[in-house]
Amino acid sequence: MASPAPVLDTPDPTTAELIAARPHLSLHARDGLLMEGVPLGQIAAAIGTPAWVYSAGAMRSRLKALQSALGAVGAEVHYAVKANDHLAVLGVMAAGGAGADVVSEGELMRARAAGIDAGHIVFSGAGKTVGEIRRALEEDIAQINVESPAELEMISAVASAMGRTARVALRINPDVDAGTHAKITTGTAENKFGIQYDDAVALYAHAATLPGVQPVGLALHIGSQILSTAPYRAAYARTADMVHALRARGLSVERVDCGGGLGIGYRDEADGSPAALAGVIQSTLGNLGVKLMVEPGRWLVGPAGVLLTSVVLTKDRFVVVDAAMNDLVRPAMYDAWHGIVPVGAAVATGKVAPVDVVGPICESSDTFARRRMLPALQEGNVVAILDAGAYGAVMSSTYNARPLPPIAMIDGDKWAVIRERQAMTALWAGERVPDFIHSSGG
Ligand SMILES: *Cc1c(COP(=O)(O)O)cnc(C)c1O
Repeated sequence: MASPAPVLDTPDPTTAELIAARPHLSLHARDGLLMEGVPLGQIAAAIGTPAWVYSAGAMRSRLKALQSALGAVGAEVHYAVKANDHLAVLGVMAAGGAGADVVSEGELMRARAAGIDAGHIVFSGAGKTVGEIRRALEEDIAQINVESPAELEMISAVASAMGRTARVALRINPDVDAGTHAKITTGTAENKFGIQYDDAVALYAHAATLPGVQPVGLALHIGSQILSTAPYRAAYARTADMVHALRARGLSVERVDCGGGLGIGYRDEADGSPAALAGVIQSTLGNLGVKLMVEPGRWLVGPAGVLLTSVVLTKDRFVVVDAAMNDLVRPAMYDAWHGIVPVGAAVATGKVAPVDVVGPICESSDTFARRRMLPALQEGNVVAILDAGAYGAVMSSTYNARPLPPIAMIDGDKWAVIRERQAMTALWAGERVPDFIHSSGG
């Protein structure tokens, strides 16, 4: 079983500690909270709130750090596009030499539009459609990760009809509990993901006989926000066993895709360590002579983004802000803890007291923080909700007819709007009201 939401038995980090743990953030005596060289208050004033802000520099340096740790064991980095699929973010990844892990045709086309080579794109996902498989083959991507026997047959049929050969990896379910939140664990037998471990050797052998497919290796992804190496070690050891079992049957295994899931420190946890992950990969899979890949998403972009929001009003212990669960759903969906830091210099250093920071939506789960020690906040004060770069904007909806916020990207002391605030009329732009609604009388 996956663990429940963690019990918070340590005190919340202070504003100063939150900032100190994030190298791209700093507090300036006059300009307040800076991301790289740009005061976040300046961006809020220019484009309004709520607004997302991403640090290109932080994304770039995290990618470099990950590549240098994983590159040391020969593992290629494929960025998991679903964490943040904005073209400018994908552009940072492409320029840094990352490939992509995609889970839909839309993500595949975004990755291609951002300039990521098809030869460095892997397609995962438990329910790829015929149309998506066809598109992957047309683009001639590096590999399709197969998640079920039925999907293997589909790929064989589609590829044969197109006169192509699909390079496939079987995504195995190693039945290892990643020890993370139940909604983001994926590697136990109870999950919908991957091929049951005991069925995989026979299916791989079957794949080798099918037209239109070439089994090239194994893939796995055991969950997200993983902070210890133990689950990785267990899963990769089982994968290595399977590589030996396949080879003993005379089957060729050229690649192992080690998945993503490396966690970040949202509260007082330390970031998952790329060097430790690389060490585990080396010791479990390093001597197999396979091409290795990893697919991190959150680790690369999570800390690099904030959601700026303004205080609408305060009421008893509640601070009501203009962002809501439709913008950032992680607290409501995963009980996630996100740091909250006032953007104004004078506000950020004020005396703290416990408050609940909530959005305006009529659901109790529309709560960003409970009993959080924050300085006194007043109407119009801007705060930054930290670590919102992964599974933030990509999971937004327009629930309550709230337009999607704008997004800005900072690079050094430059910044630019990379998505405009959605126009109010765009909310219903695709809607049609049929004539019979007007003609039915009353
Ligand atoms: C979501 C996902 C990832 C990325 O997970 P992170 O926790 O963001 O690193 C990688 N691979 C697959 C197959 C996924 O579904």
